[in-house]
Amino acid sequence: MQRAALALLLTGLMLLPGCLGGIRDGLVEALPEQRGIPGGLTLACLSSSQFTDMVIEIDHAPGYAPEATTVELLTDRLNDVCDKPGGIRAEITETEFTHSGAWSPDAVRSQALEHREAPPMDGSTLRWHVLFPSGEYSEDGVLGVAVNAADVAVFRDSIEDAENILRRPSAENIENSVTLHEVGHLLGLVNLVYTSPRDHEDEDHPGHSSNEDSVMYWAVESSSLGAVFSGQLPDDFDDDDRADLSELASGDLEAEQQLWRP
Ligand SMILES: [Zn+2]
Repeated sequence: MQRAALALLLTGLMLLPGCLGGIRDGLVEALPEQRGIPGGLTLACLSSSQFTDMVIEIDHAPGYAPEATTVELLTDRLNDVCDKPGGIRAEITETEFTHSGAWSPDAVRSQALEHREAPPMDGSTLRWHVLFPSGEYSEDGVLGVAVNAADVAVFRDSIEDAENILRRPSAENIENSVTLHEVGHLLGLVNLVYTSPRDHEDEDHPGHSSNEDSVMYWAVESSSLGAVFSGQLPDDFDDDDRADLSELASGDLEAEQQLWRP
């Protein structure tokens, strides 16, 4: 408990994404309700010692419901890597966000806080929160962001724009991969809250995989992905990503900046 409180005090706010600019690791002024960095609840997902089940809360603007394939992919992949014997389920809610214009990281944070049904650590339930708002991110070319330890946003207007005329990949495929990519950041990938013994972080795009077959490859969340991928987008973690997660789960790899520990 003390450890968790200390972690909260020590934790700054890291804004993740920006494949274009790499990670901004500047600390943003902390409001009391802003909790943790992406990866701060990695162990909470990988362990079942307190959180035996998990909810993916999806709040979408009217007309911005995610594809069923996106929800299924998230649930399947999290089931693969996390330890949730009570199951992982999605709760999808149409939401009127009280924000207009471009989405800054703080706008994502405050709307995530305002609309969530329950806190991330809710008794024995771990809750991660995915927003699908209308509008675009404040930085050009970014399709999704991870803010805090439990909050991500995916920008479907930008995804539609990123679809090329051949629809290869299609907007649906892009949404699938971008959403899983952002949730992968909540799992701490790559090297956000640990240092992998495997050399798979892209040195030009910190926090991302250097393997274009991993969903954690940097270009997955970039509107320039059409220039990088001509067909199928990766929609899964690769062997190195999975090895990192399994060593974090076993304790062989030290996890830092955790809001909760088993
Ligand atoms: Zn990313």
